[in-house]
Amino acid sequence: MNAPLDQLKKALSDKVRTSATETLLYRYDAIAQGPAPVAVVLAESTQDIATTLRLCHDAGFAVVPRGGSSGLSGGAVPIGPCVMIATNRMTQLTIDPVQRTARAQPGVITDMVSKTAKPHGLYYAPDPASSRQSTIGGNIAENAGGPQCLKKGVTGDSVLELEFVTSDGTVQRMDRTGLDIPGLIIGSEGTLAFVTDALLKLEPIPVFTRTAFAVFHDLGKAGRAVALITAKGLTPAKLELMDQNSIRAVEAFMQMGLPVDAEALLVCDCDGDDLGVVTLEIEAVEAAFKEAGATTVKLAQTLEEAGLLWKARRSVSPALGNLRPHRFNEDIVVPRSHLEPAMREMREVALHYPQFPFAIFGHAGDGNLHPNILFDRTKDSLEQVDEFAHEIARVALRHGGVLSGEHGIGLMKRGFMTEATPAATLEAYWRIKRAFDPRGIMNPGKLLPDASASQPPPRTGLPASELDLTTY
Ligand SMILES: Cc1cc2nc3c(=O)[nH]c(=O)nc-3n(C[C@H](O)[C@H](O)[C@H](O)COP(=O)(O)OP(=O)(O)OC[C@H]3O[C@@H](n4cnc5c(N)ncnc54)[C@H](O)[C@@H]3O)c2cc1C
Repeated sequence: MNAPLDQLKKALSDKVRTSATETLLYRYDAIAQGPAPVAVVLAESTQDIATTLRLCHDAGFAVVPRGGSSGLSGGAVPIGPCVMIATNRMTQLTIDPVQRTARAQPGVITDMVSKTAKPHGLYYAPDPASSRQSTIGGNIAENAGGPQCLKKGVTGDSVLELEFVTSDGTVQRMDRTGLDIPGLIIGSEGTLAFVTDALLKLEPIPVFTRTAFAVFHDLGKAGRAVALITAKGLTPAKLELMDQNSIRAVEAFMQMGLPVDAEALLVCDCDGDDLGVVTLEIEAVEAAFKEAGATTVKLAQTLEEAGLLWKARRSVSPALGNLRPHRFNEDIVVPRSHLEPAMREMREVALHYPQFPFAIFGHAGDGNLHPNILFDRTKDSLEQVDEFAHEIARVALRHGGVLSGEHGIGLMKRGFMTEATPAATLEAYWRIKRAFDPRGIMNPGKLLPDASASQPPPRTGLPASELDLTTY
């Protein structure tokens, strides 16, 4: 299979980059790096992407889509010779305040959607912490989430229509009626089709927001509080968790006066347009915190106070990155009713790996946790990090949870898929893959374990020697 480089250069001229210094920049995402792509196409239009896919399809050559490269599962990382299509130049964005929609090309930076919609009193709900780097195309491919997704749903819930290009270069535009083909493409990590445009739902900015937080001296009780809140019929706008190691890391990093002896902190927003209703809701949340065993429950009195609490939560990732140079950021989901036992069991697993500092934080409101394993790849065994991460994933699976809430499977969890997914389900996935991409050129080696492999691939999907885990 020869790279269709001459034809690509002829069709797209200087949008195709092949020099080693330029392609080197496209080897990585936020967690892993692989070999440099053979060529990078700096696409400027749907047509550029269709042309590239058609030529690669005819030559049987692999294509890797790339957005903001903030991925945490190695999805945009090459695993062998490939043409990478980067979307950074496709940044057109228009807001329709009447329909309350945004039309976005794939390279639009996530944050820009809410910023551009704000003068119309609107916002775009999905808010990954990476929203200043990630793109709409990458968010759709990963079905990204964030704190606000508890009330408004994840990225896929805000996608009304998709334009995409299939592996043979055919351009399609579809809404969600009938057979929900956009629904298949959302979350497929670039393995089925290339997203080239999206119609996104916008929400009116709520008039009132109230923020409360609770301190727990038992991590399990914080999990119980989350389950109680939803069992009482409450749907906060955000409900986020930080465990003791997360709290301590942030305090060491920012000196904000956080309660470093606490085992866990829950931060919650309730919002809406009726102050009376919002007040009742946040009071009910406070009551649930107390009922679950919180030792301190407080309502933020000012916007600044609320802002500081959310700053603390947003700072967990950089603060943990300050403790060790590398970090495996897990992304499991468990049913809310299992948060309490699942978090206890994860702590028990961590006792077997005392060499690695371990922290749990995340979008507890929808059961999505980010257990983080901190390490130094120059000194620590990657094999042990991998084993530890696998044990954590197993806790989630035992509790009826899933392998990924928002970061995707990519390379990092591809090896877990065989264990986590029934063989018949994997076969169904492969049938869909083959229907979309019969020549297997779309982001090969990601998400789906090898269809023909009798042995599962290495757990991380890459031999340890090739894994390069960076930190954020
Ligand atoms: C500090 C930090 C915090 C984060 N916080 C969150 C969080 O709160 N929530 C969350 O969900 N994620 C989070 N992430 C992970 C990451 O930001 C998301 O997965 C994001 O959706 C990736 O978007 P991207 O544009 O950077 O995609 P990339 O990393 O470039 O690509 C991700 C995947 O999408 C595919 N892809 C990209 N563009 C397209 C396209 N146009 N068509 C088809 N496939 C495409 C790629 O091939 C790859 O498989 C975080 C990452 C970091 C570094």
